[in-house]
Amino acid sequence: MRVKPTTSDGTPALEVDEYVKHVRNEYLHAYVHGGGASVKFVAGDEDTTTSYFSKRLENAACDCGYLHVRLDAAQTRVQFVEELFFAVSRNVDWVRLAADFLHRVYAGLDIPPDPGQPPEVSVQVRRVAEANGLHHGELYRTVRRRLERELLGENLLMHQFRVAMLRLCESLLDWVDTDADEHNIVLRWLRGHSVPVAELRTVGLHARVARHQARYMFNSLSRWVHMTGAPGIVVELDEPMTFDAGQYAEITVPGTGLSRQYSMANPPWEQRFLEFHVRRTPGGAATDGWMFRTLRCGDPVELTGPLGDFGLRAQEEPAILIAGGTGLAPLKSIVQDALARDLAPQLHLYHGGRTEDDLYDVAFFRDLAAEHPALTYRPCLSESTWDGAVGLVTDVVAEDFPSCRGMSAYLCGPPAMIEAGGKVLKNRRMAPRRIHREKFLDASHAA
Ligand SMILES: Cc1cc2nc3c(=O)[nH]c(=O)nc-3n(C[C@H](O)[C@H](O)[C@H](O)COP(=O)(O)OP(=O)(O)OC[C@H]3O[C@@H](n4cnc5c(N)ncnc54)[C@H](O)[C@@H]3O)c2cc1C
Repeated sequence: MRVKPTTSDGTPALEVDEYVKHVRNEYLHAYVHGGGASVKFVAGDEDTTTSYFSKRLENAACDCGYLHVRLDAAQTRVQFVEELFFAVSRNVDWVRLAADFLHRVYAGLDIPPDPGQPPEVSVQVRRVAEANGLHHGELYRTVRRRLERELLGENLLMHQFRVAMLRLCESLLDWVDTDADEHNIVLRWLRGHSVPVAELRTVGLHARVARHQARYMFNSLSRWVHMTGAPGIVVELDEPMTFDAGQYAEITVPGTGLSRQYSMANPPWEQRFLEFHVRRTPGGAATDGWMFRTLRCGDPVELTGPLGDFGLRAQEEPAILIAGGTGLAPLKSIVQDALARDLAPQLHLYHGGRTEDDLYDVAFFRDLAAEHPALTYRPCLSESTWDGAVGLVTDVVAEDFPSCRGMSAYLCGPPAMIEAGGKVLKNRRMAPRRIHREKFLDASHAA
């Protein structure tokens, strides 16, 4: 759907899609991500435009890892910060956020949650223990220790906020000593409903959030969203860097003498801000030891680049692009560049993950494919059922293309996926010289 707003005096107005793209690129990806804040007023010509805009903005915000909340100024006295906090809080899916955080806790322990369950169910200790053949009690103690360390040690969260999140996470673990009432007390406290002090004390909280605390609760919420959200960093450069779509930069890991490679995910015309997608590797020096642990918004980061020659040059044949996990990063840059410069007649993008948690930017690519007939997009899950494609991403490609003769391919992600993809494409008669690969090798491959 495309909506063309017009102004009453006939002056040209921005199209909704164009404006949302601008907000996404300039603000969500760059300025706000870098710590800035911004207020925008948008006037739509009719209700359909306004609701379409609102939906598109929500998609863009969610894709960029933000929490999207819609408030009605007629219902909320925005001059009272605590009322604003409660109004926002009533729109926040606190349980989902806590489940997302637990997913990251499990990922840090290299233990996958129970696949095929909704996020808040998949983290229950008994289910995870059974799915992974682990001892229930031991798993609970390990998760609990890690949870406390990561949550209580996070001093950018207000103390009361930390306590509340800990209680919510504990209740999702669904262990013997968790109590459903505690869960409800915490939610009522967060949403500003009146809760007797005696009940609050049972969960370690003291009083209703007051005006002088509401601003800190907002800060805590934004930090919490960051802690539960999709992995990724945006780096603002001292000076612009010219690069080709598909290239990578080498980031120095402070205090270790090590550096690691990360592919730019933004299109090459954005030279001042670089977007990286980073997967946490348990025990990894850069990701587990630094980026996901101590790196904070605003910290200086040292990098060199651009490096590498993975990329799509102008070509006459259609291209299949296959990404595993964060292997989507360079392909995101390549797809945007190829569409903008009309580099290939057709692009077929596949993104594979084990569960829905591994996928990201889904709405971004769905929107892009809806805007550009030259792009098709298929996210695939190998260990979960859902309403999209199911199976290893390379098998889904094989099903979709009985013959790949006369096509080319761009594969990026874990080495095993790339090797499997190469075999499938050759079996489907793609010429080997037309298969381009970017393997995300790490220290375990170098050893
Ligand atoms: C060209 C290129 C582009 C890349 N782009 C991206 C990207 O966009 N996004 C992304 O997420 N990743 C990307 N990677 C991978 C990235 O560079 C890192 O390798 C990855 O993030 C892991 O880094 P780490 O320091 O956290 O883990 P490492 O310290 O490299 O450890 C990785 C694993 O190896 C184990 N290990 C460490 N040392 C040894 C050893 N001596 N023997 C055996 N095992 C060992 C660790 O326990 C850990 O499990 C890219 C890689 C390449 C080559």
